[in-house]
Amino acid sequence: MTAVQEECTDEELKALAERAGRELEDASAPEILRWAADTFGERFCVTSSMEDAVVAHLASRAMPGVDVVFLDTGYHFPETIGTRDAVEAVMDVRVITLTPRQSVAEQDAEYGPRLHDRDPDLCCALRKVGPLQEGLAGYRAWATGLRRDESPTRAHTPVVGWDEKRRKVKVSPIARWTQDDVDAYVTEHGVLTNPLLMDGYGSVGCAPCTRRLLAGEDARAGRWAGRAKTECGLHG
Ligand code: SF4
Repeated sequence: MTAVQEECTDEELKALAERAGRELEDASAPEILRWAADTFGERFCVTSSMEDAVVAHLASRAMPGVDVVFLDTGYHFPETIGTRDAVEAVMDVRVITLTPRQSVAEQDAEYGPRLHDRDPDLCCALRKVGPLQEGLAGYRAWATGLRRDESPTRAHTPVVGWDEKRRKVKVSPIARWTQDDVDAYVTEHGVLTNPLLMDGYGSVGCAPCTRRLLAGEDARAGRWAGRAKTECGLHG
């Protein structure tokens, strides 16, 4: 298969994604990423929150030098930035760091301090959704680390689907994986993980909106705890 043609329309891409989602439902993560690399070539990237580098590692094997896009919101834990730097240093990938149009100080000046406490949807829109929309403009397909077992909102994630919001193909090669599968892959391949996962955090996002888990909570319960919000808008 050759890289998807530049003139391929959105409707053709959507049909391609939906067909691939059906055909690759039972495929392994490396097979799904191999398909994405063969189909989209350099117009394919991986996004990573630097919670772990599992999908980046898988993708680097399917497509050495693959672009790994990281959103630096300005609110990350130092451990997350350190994980990003380590991934860039040791893996065969090209890390691309996206930043919001405004620094945190500029945002505070315009919207007031701690917008994340008062209007987290707006804060995520300014610091995540908008920058990713712009950062993905040059790609026709992107890969995520979404898993069906992470939360009810992710339970129906296709391994390949159509991202209507961005009008791109969205690839979730580990959608069918469990946390045990992730842990086994990390151990087998010595994959980098965010140190906070060893310090009580089940999922790692921006520092003001992430807390350690309490006993019995699911992995994403520490994100926007105490609020109805469960997603940042990147995957909605
Ligand atoms: Fe803002 Fe919190 Fe969203 Fe980060 S997760 S962009 S700090 S609201």
